[in-house]
Amino acid sequence: METSLFVLFTMDVEPRSEKTGNSGPASDEAGMHSVRDFQGILHSAGYRGTYFVHPELVEAYPEFYRTIERAGSGVGLHLHTSKFAGATRRCELGGFEAAEQRELIESASKMYENGLGVRPLIFRPGCFSANDSTYGVLYDLGFIGGGISIPGRIWPDRFCVWSGACPYTHFAHRTFRQCAGDLPFVDIPLSVGLTTPLCHHPVGFQHYRDLRPGGVYSETDEVAYNRRELLRQILQGMAADDPPVKTLVIDVHNDRDFTSAASQAANDLRTVLEGIKPECRELGWTPVSATYEEVIRHYTATQTLT
Ligand SMILES: [Zn+2]
Repeated sequence: METSLFVLFTMDVEPRSEKTGNSGPASDEAGMHSVRDFQGILHSAGYRGTYFVHPELVEAYPEFYRTIERAGSGVGLHLHTSKFAGATRRCELGGFEAAEQRELIESASKMYENGLGVRPLIFRPGCFSANDSTYGVLYDLGFIGGGISIPGRIWPDRFCVWSGACPYTHFAHRTFRQCAGDLPFVDIPLSVGLTTPLCHHPVGFQHYRDLRPGGVYSETDEVAYNRRELLRQILQGMAADDPPVKTLVIDVHNDRDFTSAASQAANDLRTVLEGIKPECRELGWTPVSATYEEVIRHYTATQTLT
């Protein structure tokens, strides 16, 4: 039987930085320009993206995000509790008890619904910040899945610790976030290079490298590495582990330049896009363009809750 690799390009769509004092585009317009550029590049390469959007932007520019959905891309909710205009907090989501997480995510979901007229179904927390209550809270609020985890990252300052976390698409666990479980909520983790050593990042955390174009907070890598080689390692490791549903997840941000010849982010993105087909060919796999919601529904339909 043919093996599919579901290819999930995702973008965290952040509010403008001047508003929050954090990372993000210089203006809402610049941020939307980056979204359009990214979408255009993906479409030319035969892929569609999933856009995790901060709720203020969905509320302010609903038509923009409707157009994205009409083009076959996915839209979901992204929330940095440290940037949330509705109720700015000092720390990220994983720093809160269940009741406060519920309140914050519900408030963000209402803002999203004010814009698009429907509740969000998929979620990604800012900085992949979560604790053992997060999956249950999201499920209770009607979410079907999301990109919650970044396997291996250890960043206590952001309440993000995913050491030993399940690296492949799985049903979440109700009480222990690192393990697969029986909650009807599908986490599709960010793809990371698990066969390379855990690295120290100059920003102050430990992680396995991932395929994002550019650095975590800048246009250029803080420490340079070869995306094509990392892509190969991720896919070869996945082939050895052989999870039932294979997903490749790449994350980008809307404060990068995806088009200029001089932009490292643009070059990194091209390297990844050009590498997927040949690496899959070598493994006998077929790359399939997909959105988060499509893969979550596929996973739920084909895998049994145990
Ligand atoms: Zn973010």
